[in-house]
Amino acid sequence: MKSIRLKPGKEKSLLRGHPWVFDGAVGKGSADPGETVRVESADGQFLAWGACSPSSRIRVRVWSFEPDQRIDADFLRERLRQSIALRTGWQIASDGVRLVHAESDGLPGLIVDRYGDTLVAQFGATGVERFKPVIADALLSLTGCERLYERSDTSARQLEGLAPATGWLRGSGPTELVLTEHHWRLGLDIALGHKTGFYLDQRDSRLACHQWVRQLGARSVLNCFSYTGGFTVAALHAGAQEVVSIDSSGPALARLQANVALNGFDATRAPVLDADVNRSLRDCLAQGRRFDAIVLDPPKLAPTVAHAERAARAYKDLNRLGLQLLNPGGVLFTFSCSGGIGVELFQKIVASAGTDAGVDGAIVQRLGGAPDHPMTLRFPEGEYLKGLAIVRKS
Ligand code: SAH
Repeated sequence: MKSIRLKPGKEKSLLRGHPWVFDGAVGKGSADPGETVRVESADGQFLAWGACSPSSRIRVRVWSFEPDQRIDADFLRERLRQSIALRTGWQIASDGVRLVHAESDGLPGLIVDRYGDTLVAQFGATGVERFKPVIADALLSLTGCERLYERSDTSARQLEGLAPATGWLRGSGPTELVLTEHHWRLGLDIALGHKTGFYLDQRDSRLACHQWVRQLGARSVLNCFSYTGGFTVAALHAGAQEVVSIDSSGPALARLQANVALNGFDATRAPVLDADVNRSLRDCLAQGRRFDAIVLDPPKLAPTVAHAERAARAYKDLNRLGLQLLNPGGVLFTFSCSGGIGVELFQKIVASAGTDAGVDGAIVQRLGGAPDHPMTLRFPEGEYLKGLAIVRKS
C-alpha cells in the first residue's frame, strides 16, 4: 500500500473530517490515478484512506478515516447503500431524485440521479472512476433499476486528468424521459441536457415559485435563464396568464415549448426569447414593461472565491434590473449557484442592487438546493445554491 505523508501541521482539516488533501499539503509520496493511499501525518500517524489524483490540486479525496477499513467493492456498495437509505422515506414530490451527492455522501466525485427507472451517473474524480464497474453493478442491485447512463462530461474531469465518457453503462433505452414533479410534468434528455439532464436541485424553489405566484395572484411572469422551463410550467400551473422565458440556448427553449404543451397550456401564454438576458432586461426596461413575478436563475458566475468580485458585479446588475422590472407587490426569485459566493454575500449583493434600483423589498423566503443535494457539517463546500424570494415594497 502506497502512502502520502503530509507536511508538518497539515493534518488539521483531516482531523476535523474534511475529505480533501490539497497538493500544497503533501510532503512526499504519490500513486497512480485513483489508487488507494494511506494518508499519514508528518510523524507517520495514520489519518485516512483516500484516492490519489496525481494531476489534481485536490491530490487525495478521502474514502475513510477508519484505520482498519478496506477500500474494496464491499466498502463502496455499503457507502452507496447508506446514501440511498438516507433518502428513503423522505417526502420528495418527484420521480427525479439525487441518490448520491458526491463528497456529501462519502463518495467523492460521484453524482447519481434517478429518473423513474433510469439512473444517470457522473464519475467526476479518479477514485470513483477506478471503481466504475463495481459502482455500476451495486447501483443496479440496490435500486432495482436496469438502466444506467453515464454523463461523465463535466469540466471537473479534466482537472482530474480524465477524458469525457458518456453512454449507457448498463442496459439501454430511450434517453428522452418525462419527469413528474409536484403538479407538473417535464420532459428531458439525459444524453443532451445539462448536468444529468435536468436541474433537480431547484425542485423546492419551483414549488416556492408556484406557491407565491398563486398567493399573490401574479398574472405576468418573466423567467430568466429558463433552460427547459421548470419555473415557466410551475408559474403557469399557479395561474399566471403569461410567462415570458428567456434563454440563450435554442434547444433548451424548444424543450421548454414542448413542456408547456405537455402540461396542456397554450403556446401563446408562454412566449420565448432566444436572447442574452442582460440585453433583454435592459430592452424590457426601456420599453416600460413590468412583471408581477421574475425568476433570475443564472449559470454559475463564480465557480470559486477567486471569481467572486467580478461575479458580484454581474449579480448586482442582474438583480438591479430584476427589481426595477417588478411591479410593486410583485415577487423576485433570485438565485446564485456559485460556490464562490456565500449566502451572506449574496444577500448583500442583492441589497446593494436594491439600493441602486431605489427599491426596498421584503425577503419572504430563503431558498436553496433540495434536501437530496445536501451540504454536510464536515463539508460546507457542498453548499452552492442559494436564493431569495423578495416581495417589492414600493
Ligand atoms: N432555471 C433553470 C436552470 C437554469 S440553468 C431550471 O430550473 O431548470 C442556466 C441557463 O442559463 C442555461 O439554460 C443557459 O443556456 C442559460 N444562459 C446562460 N447564460 C445566458 C445569458 N447570458 N442569457 C440567456 N441565457 C443564458
